[in-house]
Amino acid sequence: MKQKGENIMSKTLRLAGILPNSIVDGPGVRMVVFVQGCEHKCLGCHNPDTHPLDGGYEMSVDALVDMMEENRLIDGVTLSGGEPMLQPAALASFARQARIYGHSVWCYTGFTLESLLEENNSDRMALLSQVDVLVDGRFVLAKKTLSMPFVGSSNQRILDVPASLKQKAPVLWNGE
Ligand code: SF4
Repeated sequence: MKQKGENIMSKTLRLAGILPNSIVDGPGVRMVVFVQGCEHKCLGCHNPDTHPLDGGYEMSVDALVDMMEENRLIDGVTLSGGEPMLQPAALASFARQARIYGHSVWCYTGFTLESLLEENNSDRMALLSQVDVLVDGRFVLAKKTLSMPFVGSSNQRILDVPASLKQKAPVLWNGE
């Protein structure tokens, strides 16, 4: 369901992979888009293959939207990586289409919400404005946890993005 007049054909993503149906990257069944490229260098990162900025493969936003629309099993989409905030404009287009389609959008980032708000980069803010829930912060090996859902280390937070943008401060997701 692409919006009339929206030019998303020109937007291209560099991806590490796509998981069509995941039950561990947010609530329900979700299509997970693993983007390629990350510069955070977290010790103990589980996805080092996603770090090179020139690795992975290219895919148009249009093709990704088509894949999402064909997937009848999912409740939402999750942007992971790699670092989604390195490709904010194309991901904002994809996330916008996902929401129009009725899907919730989760996004993982190694940046904190506070740093993104302070930086106030227009493309990253555009992506944030299309995200429902942000899991923020780098993976910290010393704080690794297997008991907290949806996070890899206990410093990471699960944030309600619309509420956080309204408050201009982190608001924890209440699980709904
Ligand atoms: S932000 Fe994620 S992908 Fe990047 S180094 Fe840290 S854990 Fe790995």
